[in-house]
Amino acid sequence: MSGALPPNEPVTTVKCVVWDLDNTLWKGTLLEGDDVTVDDRVHETIVGLDSRGILQAVASKNDHGPAWERLEDLGIAQYFVLARIGWGPKSASVREIADELKFAHHTIAFVDDQPAERAEVAFHLPQVRCYPAESAPGLLSLPEFTPATVTADSRRRREMYQANARRQAEQESFDGPSQEFLRSLDLAMDIRRATADDLSRMEELTLRTSQMNATGVHYSDADLRALLDDARHEVLAVTMSDRFGSHGAVGVALVETGAAVWHLKLLATSCRVVSYGAGATVLNWLIGEAATAGTHLVADFRPTERNRIMEVAYRFTGFTDELCACLAELPPPRDGRTQRLHITPAPKPAPCTIRLTTVPLTTT
Ligand SMILES: [Zn+2]
Repeated sequence: MSGALPPNEPVTTVKCVVWDLDNTLWKGTLLEGDDVTVDDRVHETIVGLDSRGILQAVASKNDHGPAWERLEDLGIAQYFVLARIGWGPKSASVREIADELKFAHHTIAFVDDQPAERAEVAFHLPQVRCYPAESAPGLLSLPEFTPATVTADSRRRREMYQANARRQAEQESFDGPSQEFLRSLDLAMDIRRATADDLSRMEELTLRTSQMNATGVHYSDADLRALLDDARHEVLAVTMSDRFGSHGAVGVALVETGAAVWHLKLLATSCRVVSYGAGATVLNWLIGEAATAGTHLVADFRPTERNRIMEVAYRFTGFTDELCACLAELPPPRDGRTQRLHITPAPKPAPCTIRLTTVPLTTT
């Protein structure tokens, strides 16, 4: 049985379902003049997948205009974040959808009534999971379409994706410099003490592959929950919004405060907001708070393949490898790969592209 998954290996959840249209999503063939309809159980499946935070897209051989209009008439067009409707191979459509969403192929499901179409996709994209049309009404009962947790943010994932697409379209049509564009977004960040509810959303953030764990050190939901009422620890929740809507929970930080030194043990932000400078904004705010408290600030940093961009944020905000006496106040790092970055804080100017609302960490 070598190569087989152990029986208790968690099933990877599908992140996007790509639907064929004719005789799969709807009954009938649009171009043959059929008055196509959506079966009630397929309709329930579409709504159910959406509420579980699983995105949906369309890959259909049809004329784009009439097919999309029909989806609108049926009242379901809004559930599909992308549509590849045309005459190219289905594998190319599915690949484009995966690329656009930045999803790994094994997290994509493809549903089509035609065995030849499924075979074509399976041949070119062997990791994509292919399902015949008759399995569509039962998708919700399969483990791979059943995420372990469904949070407020995952239920809104599709809407957040669609707001992001509008944002990007606007960015592409905007000629000004990046700072000017960022200012035009009317970005707002809220940093507050996390509640138990926040942590459920954060846990998803720290589990999802799209996060940038700046410290590279993992803390479980249980670890963080245990520290919520700990007087020496601050568990902080970061949310962001802009004029297109909310980005939801985008970051979590864990700081242990002390008289001489504050210890930033965890900083993770969603990759959705990295280009807005979210990581550096949180760091600069913390530096300012530590300056007010009159303490030094030390951040754990464990280099990973994914957090190089966050190392840049540490350096940019002034953290260095200097060996300050305050380091002796901290317990040794969890492992040999965790570095300690240090800064002697000085007050920082307010960010110029993000409106900040924060909780004061220092008590007077
Ligand atoms: Zn120091």
